[in-house]
Amino acid sequence: MSDFDVIVVGSGMAGPVAAYEVAKAGRSVLVVERGESCGAKNVSGGRLYTHSLRAVFPDFATDAPLERRIVRERISLLAPDAGVTLDYADERLRDVGCASYSVLRARFDPWLAARAEAAGAEYINGIAVEALLRDGPRVTGVRAGDDEITADVVILSDGVNSLLADQAVGAIRPKPATVAVGIKQVIELPAPVITDRVLVASDTEGAAWLFVGDPTKGHVGGGFVYTNRDSISLGLVVTVADLARSETPIYQMLEDFKRHPVVAPLIAGGKVVEHAGHLVPEGGFDAMPPLAGDGVVLAGDVAMMCVNIGYTVRGMDFAIAAGMHAGRAVVAALAAGDTSAAGLAGYRQALESSFVLRDLRTLRRFPDFMEHTTRLFEKYPALARDAMRELFVVDGTPIKPVRKSLLPLVKQVGVLKLGKDLWRGVRAL
Ligand SMILES: Cc1cc2nc3c(=O)[nH]c(=O)nc-3n(C[C@H](O)[C@H](O)[C@H](O)COP(=O)(O)OP(=O)(O)OC[C@H]3O[C@@H](n4cnc5c(N)ncnc54)[C@H](O)[C@@H]3O)c2cc1C
Repeated sequence: MSDFDVIVVGSGMAGPVAAYEVAKAGRSVLVVERGESCGAKNVSGGRLYTHSLRAVFPDFATDAPLERRIVRERISLLAPDAGVTLDYADERLRDVGCASYSVLRARFDPWLAARAEAAGAEYINGIAVEALLRDGPRVTGVRAGDDEITADVVILSDGVNSLLADQAVGAIRPKPATVAVGIKQVIELPAPVITDRVLVASDTEGAAWLFVGDPTKGHVGGGFVYTNRDSISLGLVVTVADLARSETPIYQMLEDFKRHPVVAPLIAGGKVVEHAGHLVPEGGFDAMPPLAGDGVVLAGDVAMMCVNIGYTVRGMDFAIAAGMHAGRAVVAALAAGDTSAAGLAGYRQALESSFVLRDLRTLRRFPDFMEHTTRLFEKYPALARDAMRELFVVDGTPIKPVRKSLLPLVKQVGVLKLGKDLWRGVRAL
C-alpha cells in the first residue's frame, strides 16, 4: 500500500489546485514544494485571467490577495526615442466572466496553498524532489532528501525547468527558441500616483501594458508593465536563442527599458523592492510532452501550457485549469482502480474539451511566426514612429499629402514583405 493516494510536486499555480481537488474528494495527498514558503521564488509578470480560478474557487474575488482589476490595456511599439501606443479601455473588461487582476506571487501562492491545506492536503516545504521512484515503467513515488515516499499517482507541477519530466514521460529538454528568459522588478510607488499615471478611476483598478521593439533591442520578446496596488511590476521576456545572439545582456536591456521616454515617467520616484528572473515556456502546442504516463500526470509549465502572443501573456490561467482537471482525473482513476496511462487518459480528454488544449492548438503557429518574423521587433517600431512623425510633427515646412509621406516608409520594408508578415501574423492567431 502506498504512503499517499497522490503526491503533488511543486506548489505554484497548478500544484495547489490539483491538491485541492484531490483532498476535497477525500483522498490523501502530499504536496512537496522546494521553496521554504510557497511563492518565495515564483515569478510571473503578474496578470491573472481569473476565469479558471473562479471555476475552482467561486469566492476568490473576496478572499484572494488580488492587486488591481485590469481595466485598461495598452500595447506600444517602441523605437529608441519614441513610442506608438494602442490604448484600449472597455467597460466589458469589468465583467465578472472576463475579469483579470494583477497579482504578486509572493502573496498569491501562499493563499492558493492555504486553500489546498484547508481542504486536507499535507505540505512539506523547503525540500526538492530529486527523483521519481519507479517500478518498471510505472511511477510509484518520489525521493526527496533522504525520504522515499510512495503514492498511487504523482502529479508533476514543478514548472518550466523540470528535472523530473524526463523521468516521468521521457520529455526532452526544451530547445533555446522555445524557452524565454524573463526578468522582473517590482517598483514601489504610492497607490494614487499609480492610479493617476495609468489613467484609471480608482486605486483598485489598473492597467496592463506590453511593449515590442526597443526593450529587447529588436530581439524576439517584449517588455511588460502591470500595476499593483502600491507598486508596478516591470520586466522583459527574451527567448534564450535570441539572448545568445544579443550583444546587450538582459540586465542592460532592463535598465535601458526603464530609461525609455515612454516608460521613465511611469516609474519616476519609485523604489525597486524586488528583482527576479525565471524561464518562460514559449514552444506552445508542438513542444508539449506526453501529459500522462503510468502513475503520473503533468500540469502547467512543466507541460509547456503557456502562450505569449505579444498582446497577452497567459500561463497562470492554463496552469490553474490544468491543475483542476489533473486533480479530478486522478480522483476518477483512483475510484476506477486504474492509474495506468490508459486509466489517466481522462485528463487529456478533459483538457481537449477545455480552453487549455483548444487555445494552445489554435495558437500553435505563433511561436514559429515570432521566431521567423524578426522585422516585427527590429523594423516595425521605427516604421510606426516615422509614420506618426509624418502625421503629427508640425514644424512649418510644407506638408506632403499623406500618401506621399507614408508610401516611401512602407517601401523601406517592401509592400510585399509587409503584406506577407501581416498575413502570416493573422494566420498564426
Ligand atoms: C517574467 C514572467 C512573466 C509572466 N507573466 C505572466 C502573466 O502576466 N500572466 C500569466 O498568466 N502568466 C505569466 N507568466 C507565466 C506563469 O508565471 C506560469 O505559466 C505559471 O506560473 C505556471 O504555473 P506552474 O504551477 O506550472 O509553475 P510555477 O508557478 O513555476 O510553480 C512550480 C513550482 O514547483 C516548485 N518546484 C520546482 N521543482 C521542484 C522540485 N524538484 N521539488 C519540489 N518543488 C519544485 C517551484 O518552487 C514552484 O513553486 C509569466 C512568467 C514569467 C517568468
